[in-house]
Amino acid sequence: MKIGFLNEQDDPRVSLIPAVAAKYAALGVALLLEKGAGAEAFFSDEAYGEDVQLADRGQVLREADILVSIHPLPDSELQELSPNQVVVSEFAPFRKPEVVDKLKGYKLRAFSLDMIPRTTLAQSMDVLSSMASIAGYRAVLEAGSYLPRYFPMLITAAGSIRPAKVLVLGAGVAGLQAIATAKRLGAQVEASDTRLAAKEEVLSLGAKFVEVEGARDDTEAGGYAVKQSEEFLERQRAEVQARAAKADVIITTAQVRGTKAPVLIPADTVEKMQPGSVIVDLAASTGGNCALTRDQEVIEVHGVTIIGNSHLAAKMPQDASILYSNNVLNFLKTLIREGELHVDMENEIIRGALITAPEEVAQ
Ligand code: NAD
Repeated sequence: MKIGFLNEQDDPRVSLIPAVAAKYAALGVALLLEKGAGAEAFFSDEAYGEDVQLADRGQVLREADILVSIHPLPDSELQELSPNQVVVSEFAPFRKPEVVDKLKGYKLRAFSLDMIPRTTLAQSMDVLSSMASIAGYRAVLEAGSYLPRYFPMLITAAGSIRPAKVLVLGAGVAGLQAIATAKRLGAQVEASDTRLAAKEEVLSLGAKFVEVEGARDDTEAGGYAVKQSEEFLERQRAEVQARAAKADVIITTAQVRGTKAPVLIPADTVEKMQPGSVIVDLAASTGGNCALTRDQEVIEVHGVTIIGNSHLAAKMPQDASILYSNNVLNFLKTLIREGELHVDMENEIIRGALITAPEEVAQ
């Protein structure tokens, strides 16, 4: 069996790094890697050594039994694959449900890495968590590069500097990493989340938790947030506004899986913010937590810089690729037995990630 790893088209990350390639031998599989796939993450073709066979894209697409890519392959390539081939990628069917029918139409067996259940057992293959964690860290650095001031408190002969105030909205994986990073830089940090479970985690990082009463119960949502009522969101926006006016940096990460991101910072809140302050909106690709966010753009409104970027992990391609490669290897370990594909539908990880199978198409 051959596993093929492809060069990402608009992303410097790669789903196979040399150190992880060496570990695939234990699975009894051969590896094909598109030439140059690791280059932008600073993994040269030579670094992969004997563990992989380098090939051009056409050969990888033709010969691999399992094709791995971070972003789904373009339709023009998917439709050329054979039903015996397996595709592994982030298809995001919770955001783009039409992708399932499309893949069924191509008669492909597809595993979506972003559908792996958020359980303790699946943690080592959870690409959403590993990438969100990088994004949360990077969000603070991005904010710092626009912020016209320090993060830490400084007492110098030339005067004293107060610490920056950072507000984090959404304390999931990305938010918690943003909190930890801002704290390490010496900022004063407060954070809010609708999931009460987040409160303890925020407090344990030494940040203040901003609680808005009356959030809907989310215990049945598998670790995800549930959609809140308009009344709740209204109260939350008022609470955010009062704090936003004093914040130097706001990092927003609030998402509700399968729906548009909640607007927590309307335009009038931005107006009340101090000139020079910075918003980093990690929910930009699902509509944004700030009403003024423009996805993949940095804009300035009333002196406030608004960075709309949900793909900050791609700004740290080397470490992102290390984690991503490990996640993929750990997932494939559950899918391959003695060098063969083994789709064990009793396994909840496999069941969760499998979004289409040729058998279904035949029915
Ligand atoms: P996410 O990216 O879907 O959402 C980010 C955060 O936004 C969540 O914490 C969510 O509660 C919050 N949010 C939604 N609406 C909000 C609102 N109106 N105001 C404020 N915050 C709002 O979530 P995620 O970071 O991918 O993770 C969600 C949860 O799953 C976390 O609790 C995480 O710890 C858990 N998780 C568990 C595992 C595991 O056990 N293996 C793995 C990954 C994540």
